[in-house]
Order: sequence, then C-alpha cells, then structure tokens
Amino acid sequence: MTSDLLSTALQFVRGVGPKRAADLARAGLTTVEDLLLRFPLRYEDRATPCEIRHLRPGMTATVTAEVVSSGVRPTRRPGFRLFEAIVRDATGGITKAVFPNQAFLKDVFVPQQRVVLYGPLEYRPSGGLQFTNPEYELIRAEGPDSELDDGTIHTGRIVPVYEKVGSMTPRMQRVLVHRLLRELPVAVADPVPEPIRASRGLPDRAGAIRGIHFPEPGTSVEALNELKTPAHQRLIFEEFFLFQAGMVLRKRKHAEDRKPKPVIVDDRIRDAARKILPFKLTEGQRTSLREIVTDMQRDVPMNRLLQGDVGAGKTIVALLAALVAMENGLQVAFMAPTEILADQHYLTIRRLLEQARFRVVSLTGSLSAAKRREVHAEIASGTAHLVVGTHALAEGDLAFKSLGLVIIDEQHRFGVMQRASLRGKGSHPDVLVMTATPIPRTLALTTYGDLDVSVIRELPPGRQPITTVSKSESKREEIYRLIRKELAAGRQAYVIYPLVEDSEKVDLRAATAMADHLQQEVFQEYHVALLHGRLKQEEKDRVMAAFARGDVHVLVSTTVVEVGVDVPNATVMVIEHAERFGLSQLHQLRGRVGRGAHASTCVLLYQFPLSADARARIAALVETIDGFVIAERDLEIRGPGDFFGTRQSGMPTLRVGDLLRDHQLMEEARREAVAWLDQPEASRALVTYVSANWATRFGLVGVA
Ligand code: ADP
Ligand code: MG
Repeated sequence: MTSDLLSTALQFVRGVGPKRAADLARAGLTTVEDLLLRFPLRYEDRATPCEIRHLRPGMTATVTAEVVSSGVRPTRRPGFRLFEAIVRDATGGITKAVFPNQAFLKDVFVPQQRVVLYGPLEYRPSGGLQFTNPEYELIRAEGPDSELDDGTIHTGRIVPVYEKVGSMTPRMQRVLVHRLLRELPVAVADPVPEPIRASRGLPDRAGAIRGIHFPEPGTSVEALNELKTPAHQRLIFEEFFLFQAGMVLRKRKHAEDRKPKPVIVDDRIRDAARKILPFKLTEGQRTSLREIVTDMQRDVPMNRLLQGDVGAGKTIVALLAALVAMENGLQVAFMAPTEILADQHYLTIRRLLEQARFRVVSLTGSLSAAKRREVHAEIASGTAHLVVGTHALAEGDLAFKSLGLVIIDEQHRFGVMQRASLRGKGSHPDVLVMTATPIPRTLALTTYGDLDVSVIRELPPGRQPITTVSKSESKREEIYRLIRKELAAGRQAYVIYPLVEDSEKVDLRAATAMADHLQQEVFQEYHVALLHGRLKQEEKDRVMAAFARGDVHVLVSTTVVEVGVDVPNATVMVIEHAERFGLSQLHQLRGRVGRGAHASTCVLLYQFPLSADARARIAALVETIDGFVIAERDLEIRGPGDFFGTRQSGMPTLRVGDLLRDHQLMEEARREAVAWLDQPEASRALVTYVSANWATRFGLVGVA
C-alpha cells in the first residue's frame, strides 16, 4: 500500500472484516488514520517488567510470568467461585492472580503458559499478596502464524495497551496497528509545515505516529503515559494547529463580507438613545456599547460576543444597539433560549420603547398558526421593526425585509445551525451574541476564537451583596424563618426544584407538593405560586407577570427561571437539592436575586449523600460570587466536553488534544497558525488542506 494507506477504510484492511470494522466504527474509527491517530490507553514497560519478589501491596505492576498451577476454588458464598492461578517469573518469584467467578479461565491459564499480568496488588491475610482481577495477556510461543503475530510485539518491550473496542481486544488491536505501521511509508503528507516542526523540535507525522504506538526502546514510560513525548505533543499540536488555522481562515473570510448598508450615528440617534435610557450606564456597559456601535458603523459585519456576569446589564446594551439599527431603517431579531426569557425581554423592550416609534413583536413556538402567520407577514413586510423570540426565529419559512442586526441571548444554549440560520435571514447582518456564562480563557480560544469580545466586568451600582449559605435538610425551619422575615419586609422569594429528565414526573410532583405545603402550612398569609415547563404558555406568563408585579410572594419553580428572569424585589433564592445542579446552573440561579437595592441570600439546600463533585460545587458557590472563577472551577470539575453541553454549541470534536490539559499548546498553536497564514505563498498548502477537511474533522460548520 502507498500513502493512501491512511485514508483506507478499516473494513478493507486485511484481518479486519465486516464485524470488526463495525465494532471499530462504533468507536468512531473508520479509517486507518483514525486508528493510527488514536492514543493508546496506556503503556506498559514489558522490557523491564517488575520482578515478583519486588511486588508490594498497593502498587500497580506488570509482571511477565509462567503459570505453575491453577484451579477453581469455591467460597463461602453459594454460587461464588474464585479462579486462581499461581505464577512464577524468571527470577523464581511466586505470586497469585485471583479472578472472581471466571472458571472458564482454567482452559486459558494452563501450566507453562506464559502470561503478562497487569493490575493493582493487594494483601489478603488468608492468602498473601495477590493480583485481583488483573488484566492479562497470553504470550504465545512462536508459531506458524508468526507473520501476523509473533508474540514479540507483546512482550520484551514497551507495549501499547488499547481500549477494548467491541470484539477487538487490546492485543488484537496491537497486532493490527503493528502491521499497519509496517506498511506505513517512511514519510507521509504532513500538514504541519516543516519550518514550524523544526523550530519546535517536533517529529514528522509518520515518525510521530510510529512513536505513539511502538516507542523506541529506552523511551520514558512515564512520559509516554503522561503523553509528554515529542510524538504525542506533535500530534496534539497538529490537531490544535489545524483547528486554529480553520478558525483564523473563517475569521478572515468573514472580514471580506460587506454589509449593504453600515449604520450611521448622528445627534438625533444619540438623543433617541438617551431618551429610552432608564439609568446611567456603567463603565463596562458604555465601553461595550461603544465597541458594538463602532462595529456597526463599519462595512464589515459585526461578529461580537458580549460577555458579562449574571445581572451585569447586557440587555440594555443590546437594546441600545437595536435602537441604532432601527433608526437606520434596519430590522432587528432578538433571540432568547426560552419562552419565559423571550417574553420577559419582549415586555422590557416594549416598556423601554414605549415612546419610540418602532413596532416590537414577539415570535415564539406557542403562537397559534393564525397569529404566527400574521407576525411573519409583519416581519416580511417590514412593519415590524424588532422581533423578540425563541428559536422560532430561526425557522426556515420566516423572512425579513431588511434584517440588519441579530442579537442572541445566552448564546451557548443555541446550536451552531440555529445561529447560522438566523444570520442567513439578512444580508451579512451584524451579529451580537451575549452570554452570562463567562468563557474560561482556554475555551475562549476555541469556541469563540473568531469573535471579537466585549466584557462588562462590574455590576450596576447600588447592588447589595448576595450571601450564599449551604444548609442540610435538617435546617429547613431556619430557612423558612429567613423567608418569612424577607416577606414581612416586602420582599419576594424563589424556591427552585431540580427537574431531572428521567425522573421528571417525580420531581414535578415534589415541586407541586412543596408549593401546596408552603401555601397551606407555612406561608398561609402570603401568595405562593408554582411555575414549571409543563404549564401552558399563558399560564406561565400569568404566573411570571404576577411574580414580577409582586402579587405572588413565593415562586416555587423548576429551572425554567434559570436564565435571565429579572425581578429585582426578590431577595431569597432557595435551591432545593442543590447537590443535583451543575455549578454554572447554580450560579445562574443565584443571579436571579441580588438585582435590587436590598441585600439577598441564596440558600443551597442539600440532601445526603453528597458526592465529592457535588461537595466541590457547593463549596465553590459559597466561596465566590465571581462568575469567571466559577466558570474555571466548573470547567475543572466537568471537563470541557460537558461545559457547554452539546458539541452543537461550537465545541470542536478533538481526537487527541484536551482543551484543559493542553491549553498551553492550544495557545501556541494559535500563534503559529496566525503567523503561518500571514505568509500567503507558504501557507497555500495549509489553506487547501484546511478548507477541504476542517468542517468534517472537527464536527463544526465549515470554514468557507
Ligand atoms: P444580564 O446581564 O444578566 O442580562 P440584565 O440586562 O437583565 O442583566 O440587567 C439586570 C438588571 O440590572 C435589570 O433589572 C436592569 O434593568 C438593571 N440594570 C442594568 N444596567 C443598569 C445600570 N447601569 N444601572 C442600574 N440598573 C441597571
Ligand atoms: Mg440576560
């Protein structure tokens, strides 16, 4: 085979066959390249295995030994039997491997069979030092099939151990990889340019691929297991470099777009803005607004992220930007992730624009077909100037007359496709996305690598601090006293229940029962209401409006209030089963209070048992109110994959790199990619490669 080897489908590789190919495909491995670019799970030093006489309890070790005897031993538990093998290594040391309930092994561990055992050692008073349920591999005597598997690739060297994939054992994969590597040419096409490799001391592609599977004798096993060898680093760098090259190209491509009509800002418009402004903007709001409006005045479409912690006041900034667009005769689409939030924005905006001459409409999924048609018609004809809504805005059959500005609130909740679809409804409109989930630096480089960023760092003045406490169930009475005190002072409270998908009914019942209990037995003299996602839209609106007016004093709710809801008079946030929520979610919920002039309290009510993660989350929330710190902590606890939820949200699918572990390398890769792409001649090959492969490779929307 030639250099086409890497792109060959695994199903056509000798010795794979349809069943194994299907197993591999299920693990995301369809081509030879997929298989060869996958890092082994770990490496075992079978060149210098541990001598049995040096084994100690508590260590995890590899030994190479020969079976002396084996047998099945009954235990006191009926039906529970232990398979035991006594093994001896070349130095004469003897130890034991015990496998619970695996009697079939007696046909495998036959006397004189040579084996490799890997696993933790423990000391049993009854039987001494033993491997319990170790991983094992049989070392075959060289036989007639030695061309395929002569046993020497499994022992006497540093050996890669792969994750089992369906029917493909680690050993089978080792044989397959070894054979493919023999067929791999000495040099293969390398997307990382030679000068960059040279300056960073990285091996070429073929060398790196060999190095991660069958490293040279003498390579540090520790470095291998930590993925720190040049071979590993080179492949991680390659992945990041290609990813960043795509991001840079995408950004440069957008920079070539031209909008039909950049906005202009004159005194009349400044006046109009001042008129709707209900308060003085904070420094961060003013700077952000200036950056946004400057973008809007350029002929290149804006592509900006407005980042600001919960309650920082992003909405008014977005609305002022919307006003500028509308004063310029452009339509604005404002998309929010939930109906409650869309409705709230709609009401806020309507109120603020009362004196203005613009028509604001709302478009959500719960509109009747007739009403929906009517709104669509208004948007298409241009009589509606600003439309606030949910993902219903991204639907295919909605057309705008002159969409000039797209605003997306809590943007990480939308898929890439929805964003792209809404953007596509205008001719290169300006795009402003907002998020209250601060983006840790490490992720900012990836998900938002092609956005400009404005940050509102401070909260509006006059905000009272939020005290956060964690309490166990036994303190419930104390919490009710706190709520009562606040209600007596004219404030309001939230009591939040988790809603976990697989126990949705039970949780809903719990929330409903709690609302009844609070109303009938605890706060009889106040008005308690229940809000959850299953309610009809009008019902939700009615409850939210009553809470906003202050007619409802205690709002028992599922997490539907998580994002954006704004009732400044609410000063208590009780989160039931706080142990079940994610950190960012807790922070978002807490952000529902502390919005007015009164001091607020957030109570994290937990129930045992508490997992270590849950404990860490609750501790983090009590410790800090800083959304940036919380985001970093959340990322540490959850890992980048879960941080934003789905891959749809714009996180790349990475094969070997890890955004957290390797973030340093990601930053370097970005620098190198930018510098390389600044050389048009030299970078031509890279541009071609990235344009062809980037979108599929990283599971994202294309560069072009
Ligand atoms: P978020 O950034 O979380 O979306 P909002 O835009 O909902 O925050 O604003 C939170 C609250 O702060 C709202 O009640 C809003 O009216 C108020 N607010 C925003 N900016 C200011 C300001 N500069 N001065 C006073 N209050 C403000
Ligand atoms: Mg908001």
